[in-house]
Amino acid sequence: MEGETKPMRVLVTGGSGLVGKAIERVVKQEGGAREGEEWIFLSSKEADLTNAAETRAIFEKHRPTHIIHLAAKVGGLFLHLRENLDFWKKNLSINENVLQTAHEFDVAKVVSCLSTCIFPDKTTYPIDETMIHNGPPHESNWGYAYAKRMVDVHNRACFKQHGRRYTAVIPTNIFGPHDNFSIEDGHVLPALVHKTYKAKRDGTALEVWGCGQGLRQFIFSVDLARLCVWVLREYDEIEPIILSVGEEEEMTIKDVANAIVDAFEFTGPVNYDTSKSDGQLKKTASNAKLRRYLPNFTFTPFHAAVKETCDWFANNYSVARK
Ligand code: NDP
Repeated sequence: MEGETKPMRVLVTGGSGLVGKAIERVVKQEGGAREGEEWIFLSSKEADLTNAAETRAIFEKHRPTHIIHLAAKVGGLFLHLRENLDFWKKNLSINENVLQTAHEFDVAKVVSCLSTCIFPDKTTYPIDETMIHNGPPHESNWGYAYAKRMVDVHNRACFKQHGRRYTAVIPTNIFGPHDNFSIEDGHVLPALVHKTYKAKRDGTALEVWGCGQGLRQFIFSVDLARLCVWVLREYDEIEPIILSVGEEEEMTIKDVANAIVDAFEFTGPVNYDTSKSDGQLKKTASNAKLRRYLPNFTFTPFHAAVKETCDWFANNYSVARK
């Protein structure tokens, strides 16, 4: 019948993580799900996606028509420096299992998640979607970067050989409630949230790792969630799309630390440990393609999103990942 929409059964891999929880909030609590859509959120407890048989079994169980594929071994700079091999092997096998099984089960669309940290280390700025394979990634995270780059190779080949419309999004640094707030292994912003919380609680100084001059763009997980849902429904290209705030909103790690200090009303000393690595100095990404599609999309103001994240962490301290 004309105008009739087919039911959509969307499987979100990595549904228990930072981005998965934000998508759940958008579709279940904020009314973002449309009639006829069913959303299923997976964690590693239901299936270890590095295992092909478990991946197949979970597809048999849910029979998805669409997938947002977020599941990955994820971590901050210091975890990457220690475990490059694990990042390569786990992410490669998760992605291969999910994409191959999706094809075998005739899944209409898969939206996978890359990252701006997979781009070449030596590059011109701003980075755009055409530049992923132009040179080696930064040495700190090349295991993760090459595994993620292969998703793009898979998507292009799968389109050429089977006509599948599988694509990927490329977010910049993400943050929000349900993040991994581990000081050793988390990304810079959630690790700083945890450190500042403890410094305030214990009356100690806040130690920021690195010189604080590294530049990053940050996207609030809930904004990213809305954009991922839009990509699933509306974005028709195989080529990936960068999901980010504009270049003008790039900020230093020092700016980030200051925003967190303000959110917690922390008044103690803030020290920068310059013996620790800064990672890549910058990875400025262009959101021009996103803006061509969605010129009016409004991002949550950074300070408001940081405040919500700090409040969530303080209110959920006993259960937060840390
Ligand atoms: P999280 O670490 O918060 O969540 C990871 C998710 O993957 C969890 O649901 C976890 O399940 C699941 N997972 C991990 N290993 C397996 C496995 N072997 N089998 C099944 N599920 C598994 O990640 P984010 O939400 O931060 O990241 C989502 C996506 O975004 C990832 O693909 C990541 O690479 C990408 N990304 C993240 C950025 C960031 O700043 N966080 C930046 C750019 C891209 P469980 O809860 O059971 O452990």
